[in-house]
Amino acid sequence: METDQLKALIRDVPDFPQEGIVFKDITPLLADEIAFSTVIDLIVVHFGRGNVDKVVGIEARGFILASPVAYHFGAGFVPVRKKDKLPWETEAAEYELEYGTATLEIHRDAIRPGERVLIVDDVLATGGTARATADLVERIGGKVVGIACLIELGFLNGRAKLDGYDVFSLIRY
Ligand code: AMP
Repeated sequence: METDQLKALIRDVPDFPQEGIVFKDITPLLADEIAFSTVIDLIVVHFGRGNVDKVVGIEARGFILASPVAYHFGAGFVPVRKKDKLPWETEAAEYELEYGTATLEIHRDAIRPGERVLIVDDVLATGGTARATADLVERIGGKVVGIACLIELGFLNGRAKLDGYDVFSLIRY
């Protein structure tokens, strides 16, 4: 399946969740059995088996992509969640949103020192979410081997916040 065919399965929803935002709805792509497996395979091939110990998924759509990637690598899965969702001791990172701030958390014992970590999310927009997640992983001793996202909104220049990381995206706007 070509990138154009994957792109055709992303639905633009204007003014969701608020006016002025064009939401990239990935549910048609997830529901397509060939597209879903193609996306997972492309991420796995890019980073390579044997190079990743843990795959971090960012709540909530990141979980959907990160879990099968982890399975293919024979790696563990680690959730990064919004504030107060994780039940045990957490490390927290606050980051800037378009309006105000948000907080992401990871369990303190989720990653062992020196483990190689791949971060996965659906959309890279301003890069704040991915940057905060990389900071959390590093604070608990992980080594970030890359950041994979299905969609990159290139016009928001999220990569500028992720200098030095291997940022891999499949569909760019
Ligand atoms: P950012 O921190 O600006 O890079 O935003 C990334 C996070 O917000 C990801 O977890 C995305 O799921 C979500 N996101 C941001 N912009 C969009 C968009 N246009 N469509 C869908 N999700 C988005």
